[in-house]
Amino acid sequence: MDEHVGVLPKQYDVKAIEQYTQNFWSQSGIYELVKKRKSRCPKFYFLDGPPFPSSDTPHIGTCWNKVLKDSVIRFHRSRGFNVRDQPGYDCHGLPIELAIEQKLGVKTKKDIERIGLERFVNECRDFAEKNSESMTRAFQELGVWMDWSSPYMTHNDDYIESDWWSLKEAWKNGLFEHGLRVVHWCPRDETVLSDYEVVLEYKMLRDPSIYVKFRIEGREKESILIWTTTPWTLPSNVAVMVNPDAEYVIARFGDESLILAKARVKAIEEKIQSQLDIIDTFPGTKLEGLRYRSALQELVPAQKELTNGHYVVLSKEHVTLEEGTGCVHSAPGHGEEDYEVGLKYHLPILMLVNDQGKFLDGAGKYSGQSAREANQEIIGDLKANGALLYSEDIEHRSPVCWRCKTPLIIRATEQWIVRVAQLKESFIKEVDSTRWVPDWAGASQFKNWLADLKDWVVSRQRFWGTPLPVWICACNETRVIGSKEELLKQSISTTELPNLHVPWVDKVKLRCKCGGEMTRIPDVMVGWYDSGAASYASLQHPKYPEITKYWWPADFIVEGRDQISGWFFSLLKTGVVVMGRSPYKTVLMHGFVLDDKGREMHKSLGNFVTAEEVIQKFGRDIFRYYVLQTTIWEDLKFSWDAIKQYSGDLDTFWNTFVFASTYMNLDKFQPKRWPLKRLARSLRPEDRWLLSRTHRTIKEATAAMEDYKIHEALRKLKTFLVEDLSHTYVRYIRRRTWIEKQTTDKQAAYATLYFALKSALAMLTPMLPFLTEAIYQHMFRNAEPGNPETVHLLNWPVYEDKMIIDSLETEMEFAKAIISTVAVIRGEKALKQRQPVRRIILATDSKVTRSALKAYSDLLLEQTNTRSMVRIPKEKTAKYEREISGGQFAKSTFQDGDIYLDLKLTKQDIAEGLARDVVRRIQQMRKEMDLKVDSYIEGYIVAPSTTGNLLKTQQRYLTHEIRAKRLAILIGREEPLEGYFSKTWEIEKAKYVFALREIPIQSKNVKSKRRTKTTRCR
Ligand SMILES: [Zn+2]
Ligand SMILES: [Zn+2]
Repeated sequence: MDEHVGVLPKQYDVKAIEQYTQNFWSQSGIYELVKKRKSRCPKFYFLDGPPFPSSDTPHIGTCWNKVLKDSVIRFHRSRGFNVRDQPGYDCHGLPIELAIEQKLGVKTKKDIERIGLERFVNECRDFAEKNSESMTRAFQELGVWMDWSSPYMTHNDDYIESDWWSLKEAWKNGLFEHGLRVVHWCPRDETVLSDYEVVLEYKMLRDPSIYVKFRIEGREKESILIWTTTPWTLPSNVAVMVNPDAEYVIARFGDESLILAKARVKAIEEKIQSQLDIIDTFPGTKLEGLRYRSALQELVPAQKELTNGHYVVLSKEHVTLEEGTGCVHSAPGHGEEDYEVGLKYHLPILMLVNDQGKFLDGAGKYSGQSAREANQEIIGDLKANGALLYSEDIEHRSPVCWRCKTPLIIRATEQWIVRVAQLKESFIKEVDSTRWVPDWAGASQFKNWLADLKDWVVSRQRFWGTPLPVWICACNETRVIGSKEELLKQSISTTELPNLHVPWVDKVKLRCKCGGEMTRIPDVMVGWYDSGAASYASLQHPKYPEITKYWWPADFIVEGRDQISGWFFSLLKTGVVVMGRSPYKTVLMHGFVLDDKGREMHKSLGNFVTAEEVIQKFGRDIFRYYVLQTTIWEDLKFSWDAIKQYSGDLDTFWNTFVFASTYMNLDKFQPKRWPLKRLARSLRPEDRWLLSRTHRTIKEATAAMEDYKIHEALRKLKTFLVEDLSHTYVRYIRRRTWIEKQTTDKQAAYATLYFALKSALAMLTPMLPFLTEAIYQHMFRNAEPGNPETVHLLNWPVYEDKMIIDSLETEMEFAKAIISTVAVIRGEKALKQRQPVRRIILATDSKVTRSALKAYSDLLLEQTNTRSMVRIPKEKTAKYEREISGGQFAKSTFQDGDIYLDLKLTKQDIAEGLARDVVRRIQQMRKEMDLKVDSYIEGYIVAPSTTGNLLKTQQRYLTHEIRAKRLAILIGREEPLEGYFSKTWEIEKAKYVFALREIPIQSKNVKSKRRTKTTRCR
């Protein structure tokens, strides 16, 4: 076997390399191969939070999300897990309905019914499926390895059936029921909104703010004064709430008396610009039960007909003294708090507004008007009947529908509810036993959200959603269906059901126990229930109990910070309700992608950037690198400049591998033949330093990845590749790799570098799958027997604690400081790095520097290009200080002391310096001639008479360093240079001509012959 390290293309041509990897993966079926190889490993259930396919281009934040997921999946595969990687799409919901409404030019639910539900729902499905396919392509472009051949789609029948099953379970456990709930309602979309949706969007709205007098029953000139900003809820007034702990007064105003909170008197006086004379003060409790006449008694039949109501009730929680009058108009049909207090007092619920937000018949003269539009007429009527004390307009922040921007109204409606409020304790327990990254996501954010836990209204009055599987009869009998099979078995109408959606499902009628016919209720399910059921619905539970048993619950989920109140919450609810526990073990939360000014990215703001643009300009890996180095739970402010900067890192990574691959390949380095163990005695201190750094990097990156802190792992890897390898080790071993002989010293450098690079490559693979695959295939794949087919089957590296040597690493920091300080002195004195100097004196008392000098003595001499390095105590520097002024020494300071550099040069020193100058230029010419690193040359050097003889003393060195077979040094004369590549150079103000040409073929034979011989000797 002669496996050895292969050659990597010199240029990091991003497009070509990524194309190469894409082709390689698809032609060799690499994804399938990797999955198959890991199929018998322990399970790791990753659950994809499904994006909405409401557009064909995923938001750049969604791309970050998917890349995070991909790197977690790949990491776990490399650690030996069988990872479940099914992606999902959240296909139902109003945003899609709205897109289709726009496309078809319809505006209301009635319009939709007119054009036909069948057509409408089919359009919705096509839209969702087309966008899902397009988004899938975008994710695949980013190298996201998920099972794109079979994503879970929430609109598929098998998914819907699992939703049905879970609702039936909840029903059996008494957790699913029908009831009246006060909800936020969009009158334009004619449906309820989730609490989560309500907080999504607010607008500054201009509304009336009015002070209204309700006459006290039986007392002619006495009123209780209420305040409201929703005059349209006055037709539904049922009571007035006061605070039992506050003080109230009766105050004279003209010939009238007003009841209000004492604390509000001043504010009211300011409004009405007139004084109120307090004639009595008493606690709020005294007002309980006080009866009044509604201000709209004569105009609104429902007010007139109200039998139980129109009296004062008490509420400590819901009456504040910060605004209004301390007497709160209460309409349980239009306010959650009002409803709550109403229940306590058994008050009736008046709700006079229909689904479109228009007044019903019970509202008398206002019926048919839109609620908010009736405000002005109501105010006019109050004025006319003397009930209006004062009115003004105010601007306040009010929730609007996040989809259509219509101001929301609050109304009590009949809804289907999953009763989760009573499960609060177990929710909190589950949150505590979940691992949250970062931990404050769960410890504070999620728990805060749970503090206000309410029952879950799961019904929506729309079309494109999972139909609620509830059939009812006129006799009130209710049946919840758990599967398609169960439904068709009981059907008395049809057995043909093309899919489970509206309107087809509504054709199915069932027979009631009473003999009547049962019809499905018209509601569909809130989309959050769909996605919340994903942990088991994506497994098609309960169809394949073995599969559920194997995978469930999910080991890991990751979504954006908005999902605390969204998906994380929905998952928890459906999990606890039907499976009895949280469906996930670990949650990672990430930030948003914002523009460079910190604003959200929207097409309408013109600051929308797609991942595709980044790929076009920079490449897939750089997109991944850019988003993955961001602290996961912070927001990413997108910046092209930053991307450009980061792309330099990938160049450095590539070049580091190129350096290694070039020399290792020239020497046909065989890692299998030269294991580090065998070379233990040949390792230099800097080799052992790099091994220590490698093991430490593995240790730290592993810990970071296990903690899902991918950015931390990536930053460690960057430091390792850029600082430790590119800026340090690779520089330090250049001379060792250039030496032609196959010494163990060279093999030791190769073996060390190979181990470091292979480890780094394996760890970079989850983040940068394209670049790493190309490097692996070119350089590593055939370097050792038994290397796997793809970098994605390379195991995550393992570290050994005993290889991590703190002292070596600390000492190296000091050695590096000395080396760079000497370089600074040389720069100041215009003394070339290539010019050897006689000695360097280090004045330091530091222990670490002393041990660094000892540990890295050879390295220090070589890298500072000095013949000796001496350490002296700090107090003995006088002698050198004196000589600085005489120009004998130069000095600089580093963190641990002073460095003196001897500036005196002998002839020998100068000759060596000159020779190195010549070598550097000839090496540049070799590059310009496009020579292979191992090809031999011959040629001439024409040197001036001043330095010619000096240079001749270095002929052997020169010949060797420039890989020449023959090299003539000619002094002061020009030769005909036919057939040579020649160039004139100026070195130290003198003119030189170098003329070179390649020696073809024979040289290679010579070399390989020699190598064969060497091999036999071993
Ligand atoms: Zn709306
Ligand atoms: Zn019946």
